[in-house]
Amino acid sequence: MAADYHMHLERGPWALEWLGRFVETARARGLSEIGFSEHPHRFREWRTLYPANVPAWVDKENTQHLDSYLRLIEEARGAGLPVRCGVEWDFFPGCEAQLERAIRAHPWDYAIGSVHWLPPEEPGGPWWDFDNLSRAGEWAGRDVLDAYRRYFRILTQAAQSRLFDFIGHADVIKVCGHRPAEDVSDLYESAASAFASSGVCVEINTAGWRKPVGEIYPAPRFLQACRRAGVPVLINSDAHIPEDVGRDFDRAAAYAGGMGYTEVATFASRTRRMVPLA
Ligand SMILES: [Zn+2]
Ligand SMILES: [Zn+2]
Repeated sequence: MAADYHMHLERGPWALEWLGRFVETARARGLSEIGFSEHPHRFREWRTLYPANVPAWVDKENTQHLDSYLRLIEEARGAGLPVRCGVEWDFFPGCEAQLERAIRAHPWDYAIGSVHWLPPEEPGGPWWDFDNLSRAGEWAGRDVLDAYRRYFRILTQAAQSRLFDFIGHADVIKVCGHRPAEDVSDLYESAASAFASSGVCVEINTAGWRKPVGEIYPAPRFLQACRRAGVPVLINSDAHIPEDVGRDFDRAAAYAGGMGYTEVATFASRTRRMVPLA
């Protein structure tokens, strides 16, 4: 197995001991690289990348300084660990220029683009953190198909911004288990073609198997559409604890292989290199 580039240290301290447990699991599971991808909302320097009208938890968690993250990764690299550094950026339409400045300010190995937020439905209303399992009640009374359509519109804009190396958990809108009764193949097809024309990869993210939806991201028909469009993939765990690093990668590799994929993407200094799937 090549690498696992999507994980978060946020449940532990900025300490080599905590980071090292993620690396040890990666080694034990046969990965040759590991990469971290913190959430920007944690860092004071990046609060302005978020709209003012987001739920209160964003400000509550906006307490860290970017230096702590960057310094820890440098220490981990200095200790000879095969560690890559990225960020899982939140995409808000209209904020591309500001986001681009934040991404360009540091020498990341890769940039993940994720859509975790849907815009207010009425002026002045709050942005909706639809994938927040602790606020899953927010789905009550929502039009599920409309939520999917809005999500996929923003996902397409995220790809078209060309700010990212790969798209995170491309159909995370399903995370709580809400699915429209209608067929959404058209959404998959147009997202896949936007990924292809923008030159962005899509991650196969095993965390979906650990969530209420119980399905990997992207769903089979969505991944098939990506494959037909020629979108490259990579496999990630979205681990928040060491035990989840590289989790279910054999199963995910079989899933990708079954769709006809033979290679996965690796990244260093924002340069993509394709390597055999397994
Ligand atoms: Zn995410
Ligand atoms: Zn994540």
